[in-house]
Amino acid sequence: MKIDLKQLSALHHGSIPFEETIDLREETLYGAKPFQSPVQLSGEVSNESGVLRLKGTIKTIYSTACARCLKPLDILLTAQADMVLSDDPDAVEEDDLFVLTGDSVDPADVLVPALILQVQMTYLCKEDCKGLCPHCGADRNVTDCDCEKKQIDPRFAALRALLDEGE
Ligand SMILES: [Zn+2]
Ligand SMILES: [Zn+2]
Repeated sequence: MKIDLKQLSALHHGSIPFEETIDLREETLYGAKPFQSPVQLSGEVSNESGVLRLKGTIKTIYSTACARCLKPLDILLTAQADMVLSDDPDAVEEDDLFVLTGDSVDPADVLVPALILQVQMTYLCKEDCKGLCPHCGADRNVTDCDCEKKQIDPRFAALRALLDEGE
């Protein structure tokens, strides 16, 4: 949704609210498509004594998996933005400055980057997730496989042999 700024610029004070749901299902991040839920945007674009500003909130469910046990995880992700909109083509984009490319603004162009900044590289289902067994793939949060013991046994056997030699 594009918001026409010509009308707003003509006013000394005024604002145009926005509220929309966008689809980012095809968006790729870290090799996955994590935005499978609708992405909700709301806020307003205002003109305060000639300064155009966009304030808004974006939220969605981020679909990912635990980095250790691969269990699917739904993370509630939200971000806020409060940006001055500049039509100066020489202006440098900053944290709180968005450079316009025409006389309209699409709130998604401002808010989606803010949302992506909130994404962590990895998520865990719980702080002390035990992960999957590297040998048999069992989820160690729910089962105790005996791979660990089998891995240790040969070393004990070697130690045993050394001790036996010494006798
Ligand atoms: Zn986990
Ligand atoms: Zn195992």
